[in-house]
Amino acid sequence: MTFLVDNQGYYGEFGGAYIPEILHRCVKELQDTYLDVLQSESFRRQYDQLLRDYVGRPSPLYLAHRLSQQYGCKIYLKREDLNHTGAHKINNTIGQILLARHMGKKRIIAETGAGQHGVATATVCALMNMECIVYMGKTDVERQRVNVEKMKMLGATVVPVTSGNMTLKDATNEAIRDWCCHPQNTYYIIGSTVGPHPYPDMVARLQSVISEEIRKQLLEQEGRDYPDYLIACVGGGSNAAGTIYHYVDDRRVQIVLAEAGGKGVETGMTAATIALGQLGIIHGARTYVIQDEDGQIQEPYSISAGLDYPGIGPMHANLAKQKRALVLAVNDDEAIRAAYQLTRLEGIIPALESAHALGALEKVNFRPDDVVVLTVSGRGDKDIETYLKYNTSSFNTSNTTAL
Ligand SMILES: *Cc1c(COP(=O)(O)O)cnc(C)c1O
Repeated sequence: MTFLVDNQGYYGEFGGAYIPEILHRCVKELQDTYLDVLQSESFRRQYDQLLRDYVGRPSPLYLAHRLSQQYGCKIYLKREDLNHTGAHKINNTIGQILLARHMGKKRIIAETGAGQHGVATATVCALMNMECIVYMGKTDVERQRVNVEKMKMLGATVVPVTSGNMTLKDATNEAIRDWCCHPQNTYYIIGSTVGPHPYPDMVARLQSVISEEIRKQLLEQEGRDYPDYLIACVGGGSNAAGTIYHYVDDRRVQIVLAEAGGKGVETGMTAATIALGQLGIIHGARTYVIQDEDGQIQEPYSISAGLDYPGIGPMHANLAKQKRALVLAVNDDEAIRAAYQLTRLEGIIPALESAHALGALEKVNFRPDDVVVLTVSGRGDKDIETYLKYNTSSFNTSNTTAL
């Protein structure tokens, strides 16, 4: 039994490719091509070289002494925040643009919510001199101005989407519509372990450089190549998939996934898809979806724009269903508190998304000799305004809990 994808593109009952007829050929082409390209020597050479010289890999595995003391175990941080563009997303976009080039595609499209995936895509399009069109809900365009300006500066065309709630799900629909109109010359770069097969598996493989490095770095620093716990936040699931990839079938390793509880799972203002979701179809895959009784997708809420997704990768849905992973909902206030704690204890300001993984630490009972690896998926520069909105004085003493 494996928790990786089967040859039909499923993780248990989750996954598959539920797409309009007109895309069958493109998706089939991708399914038939991606493994051969990803495993080819010329792809590996180019990919590895760019990860090293452009992204700055390997990212450090840092033993966080003071944080470890606080939780009574040994906590290592996998520092994806130190990558070029400030998060793990570039690992995926570098890989997919190389694949697009191998397939002879000239035009790149992407969807983005918070703008992080849009920036990572626009970055690699500038690098590879490719046309780049990014679909983004008009609401998101307005609330993520800096990322919109970055994408434009990088040479991308940002298309504001005015259908529906004008957020991520609507941008995704528009990107799929574009792909249907230009199936020949266009490559669609999806930013997480979501979408129709083969995207979840492809993105997981491209992010698996994270767990490959963890294995080597743990062996060097700890004398054994596996941890007792792996912890990561989940929006669509890509940084988590990369963190657990080489360990997912290794039962010695416990997997903890932190999803965004928002203002609380029971409040309706949440993005905790695994806690609340029901089986449905979103973005071309069968998985858990936050939906109403009529099957209408509900607008999710989280303080963190990157976790604000009404679905979840099919791999993670299966890990939760099979109880291979412990899935915790971490609320806004818990994430903020954890972000301040990391900042004060270690001098690292994490992305709000990553702060949800840190917020899971207080919900697990560790033993003193437990080795924990937690992925800091991104840096907090983009979130400073949100952090400042909270009253920082309540974090000045170590034992306050009020916000
Ligand atoms: C986008 C993003 C996430 C969430 O995406 P996943 O695919 O679940 O990893 C997490 N952290 C950061 C910093 C992000 O930018």
